[in-house]
Amino acid sequence: MQMGREDSEYNKNVRKQYRELMKKCQLHMDELERELPPPREELATALKDRGVSRRDFLKWTSVMTAALMLPPVFRPVVARAAENFSRIPVVWLHFAECTGCSEAFLRSSYPNVDDILLETISLEYHETLMAASGYQAEQCLEKAMHDFNKKFICVIEGGLPRGMDGKFLTLGPKGKTGIETAREVTSKAAAVICIGACAVNGNIQAAKPNPTDAVGIGKALGIQTINIAGCPPNAVNFTGTILHYIMFGAPPALDSLGRPVWAYGKRIHDYCERRSHYDAAEFVNEWGDDGAKKGWCLYNMGCKGPYTYANCGKVRFNDGVSWPIMAGHGCIGCTETAFWDTMAPLEKPIHEATIGGGERTVDRIGAVLTGATVVGVAAHAVLSGIRHRGEQKEQEAHGDGRMTEEEKHD
Ligand code: SF4
Ligand code: SF4
Repeated sequence: MQMGREDSEYNKNVRKQYRELMKKCQLHMDELERELPPPREELATALKDRGVSRRDFLKWTSVMTAALMLPPVFRPVVARAAENFSRIPVVWLHFAECTGCSEAFLRSSYPNVDDILLETISLEYHETLMAASGYQAEQCLEKAMHDFNKKFICVIEGGLPRGMDGKFLTLGPKGKTGIETAREVTSKAAAVICIGACAVNGNIQAAKPNPTDAVGIGKALGIQTINIAGCPPNAVNFTGTILHYIMFGAPPALDSLGRPVWAYGKRIHDYCERRSHYDAAEFVNEWGDDGAKKGWCLYNMGCKGPYTYANCGKVRFNDGVSWPIMAGHGCIGCTETAFWDTMAPLEKPIHEATIGGGERTVDRIGAVLTGATVVGVAAHAVLSGIRHRGEQKEQEAHGDGRMTEEEKHD
């Protein structure tokens, strides 16, 4: 009885807090609609023109609301934020990288709602997509910074080389270094979103021996950035973060590496469809072996899912069709810091290099929690593998794998 009363008090409080939160969202979006120019393209028209039905849009709002860890009552708020998506002015900078993140976001063959939002985003400046170049491009950037001072979102793709006083990377007609440009633009932005591993932590440019002393934006400039990690990251994690910003006027909760917790709060291992095979010690031991054909766990083929925080298995890629582990290759840990160095060798388990050297593992991975996981996971794989091999041998010895009643008594 007592318990029931407490529970309903608790529920009442939760509902009250959600109502207050929703009111704040509505007020914030009212303000945004007053202050920013109207959307470049009405979302309803954009969806219709690209063959996305109202029903698909409503389905998408439910999925996005759940992904953002909000209760279902927030679905209309998420829909309204999506309608306002293209009001937010965005300045998109490129530094040391391959442009793969932009390519991955813009090249979908079957556009879903996330892709359409990205297509209609109000890009005030994007070096890869804009027609202008040289002085004309620089003027566009200056105009965007002036017109939308402290109102635009600065999205950065690529890291910053600090070597030679930043001169490994210069751009524009005045030959400014990447560091100078980044410092100037980010100081006028309402928020800075790093898109992809290069902007987040330097990625391949920062891998040993890192000849240009490349680092991520946050480290190069000493600022807090919202880090959409991955190589490339999932478009859903970017759109979800912008929607959160539109709804609440603030970035979502971030982990210690600046990644939104709603997208990077769990390990690949926790969402993996091969997890039951890991628990049962059923591993692929060679590409194309019987285990591979049966979809067993890829740990022994170097899968770094146990040490990698990301939602790839949940949101998948290419309109939710597949993701790397489903396609048959292990996770290489691309959302983690310095993964080219810390997760190497990419197609071998880390325990081969580190088991028996726990402290070294902790140093290499850079986080005590993750390091402890490495030792624990490696030990599980080795011990359960031994047990499993023992069982297999026993089965082989008995032909069909089952013991006769006589054999049991022997
Ligand atoms: S080790 Fe990799 S393949 Fe195996 S369950 Fe974990 S994430 Fe999935
Ligand atoms: S599965 Fe792993 S390597 Fe692949 S994209 Fe996701 S986090 Fe990166």
